[in-house]
Amino acid sequence: MDGVPAALRCFREGHSAEMFVDDSVETVTSVEQKKVECSIEEVISVYKQIHSLPQPTLLREQHYTYLKKGLRHLSDTYECLDASRPWLCFWILHSLELLEEPVPSAVASDVCQFLARCQSPTGGFAGGPGQHAHLAPTYAAVNALCIIGTEEAYNVINREKLLDFLWSVKQPDGSFVMHVGGEVDVRSAYCAASVASLTNVLTPKLFEDTTNWILRCQNWEGGLSGVPGLEAHGGYTFCGTAALVILGKEHMLDLKALLRWVVSRQMRFEGGFQGRCNKLVDGCYSFWQAGLLPLLHRALYKEGESALSRQRWMFEQQALQEYILLCCQNPTGGLLDKPGKSRDFYHTCYCLSGLSIAQHFGNMDLHHEMILGKEENRLAPTHPVYNICPEKVAQALQHFHRLPVPEDTRQQGAPANDTPSDLGTTSADPQS
Ligand SMILES: [Zn+2]
Repeated sequence: MDGVPAALRCFREGHSAEMFVDDSVETVTSVEQKKVECSIEEVISVYKQIHSLPQPTLLREQHYTYLKKGLRHLSDTYECLDASRPWLCFWILHSLELLEEPVPSAVASDVCQFLARCQSPTGGFAGGPGQHAHLAPTYAAVNALCIIGTEEAYNVINREKLLDFLWSVKQPDGSFVMHVGGEVDVRSAYCAASVASLTNVLTPKLFEDTTNWILRCQNWEGGLSGVPGLEAHGGYTFCGTAALVILGKEHMLDLKALLRWVVSRQMRFEGGFQGRCNKLVDGCYSFWQAGLLPLLHRALYKEGESALSRQRWMFEQQALQEYILLCCQNPTGGLLDKPGKSRDFYHTCYCLSGLSIAQHFGNMDLHHEMILGKEENRLAPTHPVYNICPEKVAQALQHFHRLPVPEDTRQQGAPANDTPSDLGTTSADPQS
């Protein structure tokens, strides 16, 4: 690592010259942008007044306490976010693994049992027990179970049924709907490719035409939109790109246009990322946008690009760390979108994930750390495709690749255990 405490970028003379200039044309968004910059300027100046030696600190203990409390709550009745309960498991477990805080085995086992209850009899996972299967909680549940990484966790997943579920949401044009009868967008392709690859149910037929459909989402801006023809957006761009990486087709994107788009989303003054052009900075894009840089670095490396750094990603890693550590931490634990917003588990997970990306450069056998502040700020590295720790990805792949890929004789639109009326007629063999 670089060692010597670096001078903070936001303390440098000339930093205020990075502030937004409206060219005397005031608009609704220019006013909002200036307000955010003012609030950040205030945070920086207060920090300056109380710290002679700038060493931004990750509030580990406070975040740990906040997360631990959240995890305990899940075993009781947790009513808010009722349709996102596997997400809460993932956000909390992933934050804890980044902080390198172990989860007691009894708690891990409770989470496995809870997620088993979220698994639909027709395959895939729902937002809560008794709800319909949906690709987003399926992704969250599989990730959470892979983080736990025990036999009990792996055995929760009914892979045959999972493949049935994936077929039930596959569309003839290669896209996926989020749930039966639901909307199409590029998140679904990522969720499907992520769970299928981790659990070894990925078949070429299941993803037939998916590459072409995702490629149509890259627009003139360089980023990807939710469906072809809309505005480029950080979350969708990450999902589409990561899905193509899983399918081994990322080289088919216009990689340089994508690179140009994503690096332009890092805010000059704030240091964090915005989700779309002309929007405000938001801590969660620390992962959705910065997480694209490792994917792009590797894709360009594979393409033989020779000018790539062997020590840094192609974004300002220090500026992002400053934004997260100075502007996105709640003093009593948890992380947030921007100063003035309240903490939540979603932002805690994605701010920490982005911080991890900004701390660790890694490409093939290279590894280089750039930790802003004390060494205790160091988080575990995260896998830029799945956003769980790399050893947990390796362990899951190893486990599920010992098992055969379930037979895939289906055609989209054909079979289907996808309607409630089929529930009684399938020769189901529920595993859990
Ligand atoms: Zn956000």
